[in-house]
Amino acid sequence: MATQHRLTATVTPGGILFACEDDLCGRRLVIDRETGEMVVIDHGDRAARHSGAAGGVRLHDPRIAIR
Ligand SMILES: [Zn+2]
Repeated sequence: MATQHRLTATVTPGGILFACEDDLCGRRLVIDRETGEMVVIDHGDRAARHSGAAGGVRLHDPRIAIR
């Protein structure tokens, strides 16, 4: 089972910055508050499950459909 990591959110002029609390991971991503576009700055531990929330924006596991 994948390790669970928590993302801490910080509101910045460039959007909402989510950073992983795990010191060895380093995942960081930004969400544009107007468009909702997500940009991953650092992938960090790709095998870990990341979740976090701030101001009505909630990140959780993606849903993957296989057809
Ligand atoms: Zn992480």
